[in-house]
Order: sequence, then C-alpha cells, then structure tokens
Amino acid sequence: MKTLGVVTSGGDAPGMNASIRAVTRVAHSRGMKVIGFKRGWEGLLANTFEQLTPRSVGGILEVGGTILYTVRSPRFKTEKGIEKAAETLATNNVDGLVVIGGDGSFRGAHHLSRNTDTLVVGIPASIDNDIFGTDETIGFDTAVNTAVTEIDKIRDTAISHERTFIVEVMGRQRGFLALAAGITAGAEVILVPERKIRHTEIFEKLEQNEAKGKKSSIIVAAEGVGDNREIANRIRERTGAEVRLSVLGYAQRGGSPTARSRLLACLFGSKAVELLSKKHGNLVVGLCLGKIATISLEKSCTTRKALDLDLLQLANLLAT
Ligand code: ADP
Repeated sequence: MKTLGVVTSGGDAPGMNASIRAVTRVAHSRGMKVIGFKRGWEGLLANTFEQLTPRSVGGILEVGGTILYTVRSPRFKTEKGIEKAAETLATNNVDGLVVIGGDGSFRGAHHLSRNTDTLVVGIPASIDNDIFGTDETIGFDTAVNTAVTEIDKIRDTAISHERTFIVEVMGRQRGFLALAAGITAGAEVILVPERKIRHTEIFEKLEQNEAKGKKSSIIVAAEGVGDNREIANRIRERTGAEVRLSVLGYAQRGGSPTARSRLLACLFGSKAVELLSKKHGNLVVGLCLGKIATISLEKSCTTRKALDLDLLQLANLLAT
C-alpha cells in the first residue's frame, strides 16, 4: 500500500479534521503517501486533491468542520459518476481510500467499491449517530453536548417564565441526538421519529407535570417528528399554557470536537490505516461494546441501526 486517499463527504461533523490528521500521520509512519480529495465525492469527479503531510494536518485536531470541505454530490450517484471516480483513483494510483462521513457517504462508498480495485474503508462521522456497526459516530458526543448546553440555558427562561419550551434538535430521520440530549438535559418529553405519539399523549404528560407542581416543561423534539410549531400551537390551544419553540439549528453541526469525539477520530483513523495496510478493504470501522471493531461496508449500508426505545421510558421515569 503506497498511496492512500482520504475524502470527507455528506454533512460535516466535529472530529472529521481529527480523523484526517490521524489517518495522515499513521499512514505516513507506515511509509505511505496521503492525498486528500476536495469537496467530498466531487473531488473524485474533478480530480481535485492536495497532498497531506504530518505537518500540513497540524493545528486541526481541535477545529470543527473539515479542511477538505464537503458537498453533497448528486452526480456521484450516477453510473457515469462512479466510473469517473474509479478512473480518478486509478489515475492517481490510489491503493486505499478512507471515506469519512455518514450513512449516505457509505452507500456511495459501497457503490464505488464494487467498481474499483482500490480498497475502501469507512470512518463513521455524523452528528446523527445513525450508522450501523458502531455504537457511536465521530461528532455525536460533541453535538449532544452542544444541544445540552443550549437546552440548559433555555431551561432558565422556561423556569423563570413558567413556560413550556419545545426545543427542536437535528434529526430528520432518526432520534439518537434527541434521545441523548433529552435524557441528559432532563427533558420532560422527548419526541423522536421512531416513535410517533399522539398529541393527546403530550397534553396528558404536561397536565400530569402541572398536577405534580411542575410549572415549566422542556420538550426535546427531533426535527423529523413533524411540524414542531404546529405542536406548540396545539399545546397552547389545549392547555392555555405559554409555549415557545426554539430551533437549535446548524450550531449543532459545528464547534470544536469534545475529547470523546477526538478520541474516536484518533482510534478510528488509526484502525482504518491498519486495515488498509494489511490489504483489508470494503469495511467500516466502529466502536462495539467499548472495543474498536470492523463490519462490512455492505452490511453497514444495508442495515438500520436501532434506537433503544426503552430509553424513552427511562427518560419519563427520570423526569417525574
Ligand atoms: P451523509 O454521508 O452525511 O449521510 P448524504 O446522505 O448527503 O450525507 O450522502 C453524501 C453523498 O454520498 C451524496 O451527496 C451522494 O453523492 C453520495 N451517496 C449517497 N447515497 C448514495 C448511493 N445510494 N449511491 C451512491 N452515492 C450515494
């Protein structure tokens, strides 16, 4: 293994840079040259890359986002796009490609892996934590901490004004972030796309809280549960309570990675290079019960990671 390619793709996540640094430095220590493709899969379509060296990746460990940039690339999804990307890998004699990204990027990586001799390894990096084969993705812990810090602040206002707040966190399809942020911020109600609940259930819960003497409540809702403004209106109509919606938005995607996100980036990056140097490819690196593990790229892409819905009951119990 002489030349290694690195690409960051899909939504950015804090810790992507830390993994670029880890891949580059570990690969360099094993005598490999590393090139970083720019702007996700587009870099493989346009053959745009820069050489990465141990020095060029200095000072990025603690920086959010990705120095390689990232875009979503509809062109890459076509047969022509995949063909062009495979050609770019061959032209540059890339023996191994490390793909740092989310589930969409891995579906792309899987598609590409079936059309190239280059070995492909995925490093899961996403604030959504929705990748099968790893208990945790790089960036998830940072996003949870960002959300909790904001929810704690919102709680101050909720208590002072005796109001109910709906705090919308990211998660169009999945509720991992909402669930973790909701539990750790002590939310009274958590709404996730995986478990649809009727509005009446929310009203009942808020009424029970009021009967117990709680004068304010926090509802943490994933963006994918529906129109959270509409839910706020319905609660207001039904209970007469003051309800406010606060959408946390893109702040959850950025910021300096937590130590936890950095550690995963270092461990996953190192493992990815080790696998490729042993000529093991078409795999995803992950964390499984506290140990660094690997799973096939195909299985990771085609299996839905389950959200532990029992945790909603625990959250209920802890918020009594
Ligand atoms: P994430 O990796 O954060 O989940 P996306 O779902 O947007 O982000 O995927 C990133 C990119 O991966 C897409 O813009 C597209 O180029 C590529 N991709 C996604 N799904 C596929 C697929 N089924 N086949 C080929 N490429 C894909």
